[in-house]
Amino acid sequence: MSDDVPFVFVGEALALDFINTVKVVRGEITDTLQNADDLAHWWSLAYEHHPQIETVSGEAMPFDDDVLNTAKRVRKHLHDLFLQVIEGQQPEADDLAALNWSLATGYPALKWDDGRHVEYTSVGEPAAELLLPVGLSALRLLTQTDLSRLHKCQSNQCILLFYDTTKSGTRHWCSTACMDRDRSRRRYRESKQS
Ligand SMILES: [Zn+2]
Repeated sequence: MSDDVPFVFVGEALALDFINTVKVVRGEITDTLQNADDLAHWWSLAYEHHPQIETVSGEAMPFDDDVLNTAKRVRKHLHDLFLQVIEGQQPEADDLAALNWSLATGYPALKWDDGRHVEYTSVGEPAAELLLPVGLSALRLLTQTDLSRLHKCQSNQCILLFYDTTKSGTRHWCSTACMDRDRSRRRYRESKQS
């Protein structure tokens, strides 16, 4: 699965890239996190794309089915929450609760040694190493950014979410490949109508 279904990192935020692990492949909505190994693979790539990911001290995260299932449950709530915000709606209480639960899987402390830094410690949830940074990313997006720059890809064949970081604020598609496919589909439809 991991080889022929590459993960996409087009969201411009860890939380959105995590949500985007469910995507459309050949017309079918597909979960690229089929097993715990997929999650471990995605997580290592997420670190490369988001080197500022907060580290959570405590027990190292086991990549097992429990962590996978917890992560997927939170992912579904975050997906629904961001879609509601993108559509200008008030977030549902259970989706907000899932985000706030993720944020409560660890706590920050100020450390002052060679420099100043925030250190996060898990309160014992095995998936905290993933869920806390994902939750913090979602929290930043929802409280510190321009919500009108949150989008779902304009292609109706695509479900990916992203935060538009372009200067002009005119990004409509998740990728140029998606834009090209969407435009050629539209041209094809128009040519059949005329
Ligand atoms: Zn797209």
